[in-house]
Amino acid sequence: MVVKPVIKGVHVVPMGFSNAFLIESDDGLTLIDAGFPDKEAAVFGAIRNLGRSLGQLKHLIFTHGHPDHIGSAAAIVRETGAKTFMHPLDIPLAESGGPFRPLSPAPGLLGQVLCNLFYHPDERLKPVAIDQSLTPGEILPIAGDIEIVHTPGHCAGQVALLWRPGRMLFAGDVCMNVIGLGDPVGFESLTEGRASQRKVASLAFDAAGFGHGKPIVRDASTRLRDKYGQNPEQEHQQRSAA
Ligand SMILES: [Zn+2]
Ligand SMILES: [Zn+2]
Repeated sequence: MVVKPVIKGVHVVPMGFSNAFLIESDDGLTLIDAGFPDKEAAVFGAIRNLGRSLGQLKHLIFTHGHPDHIGSAAAIVRETGAKTFMHPLDIPLAESGGPFRPLSPAPGLLGQVLCNLFYHPDERLKPVAIDQSLTPGEILPIAGDIEIVHTPGHCAGQVALLWRPGRMLFAGDVCMNVIGLGDPVGFESLTEGRASQRKVASLAFDAAGFGHGKPIVRDASTRLRDKYGQNPEQEHQQRSAA
């Protein structure tokens, strides 16, 4: 099992088509998201690869409650005893294990294909209990401070996590970086999703990790600002002027 460092202290754990991230800090290990079902061995392998024991995974923070982000959570919590965190709007999904809320595919052919391929709202998973609900704007005193930014649209209870010591944003499915930066597979609300993309583009950070696709190691907030930083009027004016 090879764990790839993204930046110092952060490792990406491939969980199939989705990513989880491990943060190493003085208070132990923190895992962001828990991938597809039956992928817990990837997380355990990554922890051991860092020379740590499973009991050193102290915190499991979810960007949202979709099956490809909570799939292996029950197994991970059982083996590690990690404390779980999620936005209240998604807690019922995790604690029931499904069904999940419907998604409309993102605009374009790719969204249509990927949404059908990877998102199945009637999927049933092993439920996972959430120990603490996340409050938008709060700063979790974990791994040297993680700021919680509510980013609904793809999923009502989605949050982005800003890890302050490493200036890294964990964007969940606000956008993905599969063939360049682009939309997630689908949206519960496209309008809110666009607003959340602009919201994360207004934050300051150096690196970014996504639920799907490659992390960006440097100048990530510039990349996001170039892609999402303008409001729709400005884009419209530019297009009309071109
Ligand atoms: Zn999702
Ligand atoms: Zn996802």
